[in-house]
Amino acid sequence: MSESSDPASLGPNVRQTAAEMATGDRTETLLQTEDLVKTFGGFTATDSVDFAIEEGELRCLIGPNGAGKSTLLKLITGTLTPTDGAVYYNGHDITDLAPNKRVDRGISMKFQVPSVYGDLTVRENARLPIQQFADGAERRQLVRESIDAAGLSGYEQVEASTLSHGQQQQLEISMAASLEPDLLLLDEPVAGLSVDERAKIAERVTRLNEDEGIAFIVIEHDTDFVGEIADKVTVLDEGDVFREGSIEEIESDPAVKRIYLGEDDGGDE
Ligand code: ADP
Ligand code: MG
Repeated sequence: MSESSDPASLGPNVRQTAAEMATGDRTETLLQTEDLVKTFGGFTATDSVDFAIEEGELRCLIGPNGAGKSTLLKLITGTLTPTDGAVYYNGHDITDLAPNKRVDRGISMKFQVPSVYGDLTVRENARLPIQQFADGAERRQLVRESIDAAGLSGYEQVEASTLSHGQQQQLEISMAASLEPDLLLLDEPVAGLSVDERAKIAERVTRLNEDEGIAFIVIEHDTDFVGEIADKVTVLDEGDVFREGSIEEIESDPAVKRIYLGEDDGGDE
């Protein structure tokens, strides 16, 4: 392995993985957590997490129920305030930045609980994020594109509550993506969806990642889905990073299998 790379030249918060240093590929760290801790009363949900992703990466986050996956994403969006530790984004310390300011910097999230507005139409929902920065003909064009990308052309006037679960997820991804984020966080985007709907979400996420360069952190249990989309997988267990690697490495790791034993998460094992 070559020792010639000089990570120091990338700045204090921009590190390279061993693999990148070995191959000489230089990518910038987009997001990094340092010793991140979140306790609820006496319970530690996030236990000194050091986690990082590169610009344009598509990372999946897996782990048993209660491992701290949703909590970690909420610490990244600022929905939750950490008990200790720091979050860096593009090399800047954003630990104390309000959630809306993080959205301005390019971090967007689709939460585990669907959050389309059921009594608004598809068009009204799609327009909500776009009207914050565009108006007139540009706004109408962006709203059309957003609805089209969700596969919802023809459904513009339909109340969102009457859409299928899969269509609501697509609409929500559109709403999050129309803020033109650099990082999009998805918490269980295909839970409860049919095989066909899952495939459509996988295709959508892959397209946003490859064509628009949006980096993703996706929490998901379904290993077929994870295998289809992920560059790299991080396993969380008991609040901390347990393993990181390719889906093949993770799936064949006996220790990973062990942490799922006795776990009944409704997955397809
Ligand atoms: P995951 O998404 O991996 O299933 P979570 O991040 O939702 O796990 O939760 C991790 C742990 O923290 C769980 O044991 C959960 O009960 C606990 N927890 C999460 N949010 C809260 C909260 N607001 N108050 C108390 N405990 C919480
Ligand atoms: Mg969760």
